[in-house]
Amino acid sequence: MNMKKHLILPALLLSVSIGYSQKNKNAYELASPNGQNKIKFELVKNAPKYAVSHGKTEVISPSEMGFVLKGNEDLSSNFEIKGAKTSTFDETWEQVWGEKKNIRNHYNQLVVDLQQKTGNKRKLQIQFRAFDDGVAFRYVYPKQNVKDSIFIMDEKTTFNLKEDGKAWWIPANRENRDEYLFKDAPVSTLDTVLTPLTIESKSGLALSFHEANLVDFASMTLVNTKGTELKSDLVPWADGVKVRVKDSFTSSWRTIQIGENPGELITSYLVLNLNEPNKLKNTNSYFRPYKYLGIWWGMHIGKYTFWESDKQGATTKHAEEYIDFTEKEGFNHLLIEGWNKGWTPAWYENKMHMFSFTKNADNFDLEKVVEYGKKHNVELIGYHETGSNLINYLKQVDEAFALYKKLGIHTVKIGHVGSKLNMKQMHFGQFGVNYFRYILEKAAQYDLAVVYHESIKDTGERRTFPNMVSREAARGQEYNAWSEGNPPNHLTIIPFTRLLSGPMDFTPGIFDVEVKQGYPGKRVQGTVGQQLALYVTIYAPIQMLADLPENYEGKPALQFLKDVPTDWEDTKILEGKIGEYITTARKDRNSADWYLGTLTNEKPRNVEVSLSFLDPNATYEAQIYVDAEGTDQTHNPEAVAISKKTVKASDKLQLKLGGAGGGAVRFKKL
Ligand code: CA
Repeated sequence: MNMKKHLILPALLLSVSIGYSQKNKNAYELASPNGQNKIKFELVKNAPKYAVSHGKTEVISPSEMGFVLKGNEDLSSNFEIKGAKTSTFDETWEQVWGEKKNIRNHYNQLVVDLQQKTGNKRKLQIQFRAFDDGVAFRYVYPKQNVKDSIFIMDEKTTFNLKEDGKAWWIPANRENRDEYLFKDAPVSTLDTVLTPLTIESKSGLALSFHEANLVDFASMTLVNTKGTELKSDLVPWADGVKVRVKDSFTSSWRTIQIGENPGELITSYLVLNLNEPNKLKNTNSYFRPYKYLGIWWGMHIGKYTFWESDKQGATTKHAEEYIDFTEKEGFNHLLIEGWNKGWTPAWYENKMHMFSFTKNADNFDLEKVVEYGKKHNVELIGYHETGSNLINYLKQVDEAFALYKKLGIHTVKIGHVGSKLNMKQMHFGQFGVNYFRYILEKAAQYDLAVVYHESIKDTGERRTFPNMVSREAARGQEYNAWSEGNPPNHLTIIPFTRLLSGPMDFTPGIFDVEVKQGYPGKRVQGTVGQQLALYVTIYAPIQMLADLPENYEGKPALQFLKDVPTDWEDTKILEGKIGEYITTARKDRNSADWYLGTLTNEKPRNVEVSLSFLDPNATYEAQIYVDAEGTDQTHNPEAVAISKKTVKASDKLQLKLGGAGGGAVRFKKL
């Protein structure tokens, strides 16, 4: 670690002692290490303002900062600068697991200490960081000589975009949380939207607005206030207060990732870099990336029930059959949903459901299944559906985690179906933020890795807590089982939007894409080639093989799912257009092999990419799985053409994708 102090851009100031009464000395400029991204900070009429530029392009025009506290004391004006410090930081750190092994955290920082001139003379510190892949800032409200609790009623931060652009958005504060289809619209027409919010600006930049290291604060949504101006809209408590704290607070980082093409957003690690280093040193002893099967899809397509019935999915008998199949195909993890007491046919409705997290359903013997699994090298993944009744869950969580620890279960998937937590608080408010962090830290105490469903959005926690392995936090595969489904372009949008926040438990790998055993008319809107591509396109350290065992039985394409890793040394986006297509290459962390995934929206596509990412001194066997000739989502969608050829880094690869199709390649180093 090396942290040295020096003045970064002494445009107006050559000294760190600030003359705060002098007009032109109330302005600072902070540039990223390569000088491309710049933040300008200025006190204008005693109010803090910031602006952002990339090269010669103004990205954010002067915008507001600060908060409104209860009692109408406005923490956004009447300030003077008490001090300012600049520093630079450059460190390369290693991810315990991830989409890239070594990550460089290189930025210049400006910390400005403000104090109000009259009244309670409240202090506010604003920290700015300029990275080569974007900028970030956060607020620190230090302990001060004012004896009161702090109620933040509003955040005044705005993002006054210099120009309009195409925003890829989902709505905020709705019944289904973040499980919505992304749409595109001009920034100037947006209502309240969730982050990450990705914008293709008129001048051709790719921007993503999000936050990092969200702790004991409300999550930020964005609302269009006027023109192309977006404003932070913190998700409130049930009583309307946005954030309640005692003496001090530190907001999450407000992040703006800036790329010259949308693919650069995916290989930006700015959000992770703004989280604290790993606090858990022992996760390697209980969590390594893996692939898993599950008694799961059967419930979604109506073959099984979650609840006790003659069609119950989670029976000891089914579990043993699934364990046999999992072992036979060479996998080691199995998720079983609905194993416990408390499930009813109306389990997903908004009610205070009373699940038990320790008692087996009648036809399911957890200890026996765990033992059977151990004999066959298959570890169970624990499952807790809270139904968002956290009062019930928190009463049992210690006992439930202790049970898993005793049984040697090291991952727990935790669901939070319901529009509000405890039918009262929004998932994304400060209450939810604190709840999800509390459970994550508690799970670590029991050597448990966590997969959240219906959770708060990811803000990079996995860097600090590498037991935070994956989450849903978007419309996943399940919607293809029982809703109108995810249209093909969904998969070409989420890599540039939702997936910027972190790993997703999308649950790919449906081979019976027409879902012949499911509800009439419901299906996956794509080909098996597209499903294969998802294992490379979507990054997650755990990936499900979501389909029923009988749909994998004897399928040659299953070999790709056996081979594809879930832990990577490096990631490259070879090409991509939001809503149209994406081609991703990743290098395995534990071998010399590379993998490629490519998929397209409803339009067929001829992919041609350079293989220059391969080692130039090596030869590879390309094992190619792609839509068979004439295949698309409505014509023979399960047909995958499998072929092999020898390739080098100087070659180009051509793949022909059908509509809603895709392909996947393993480059095995020879
Ligand atoms: Ca869900």
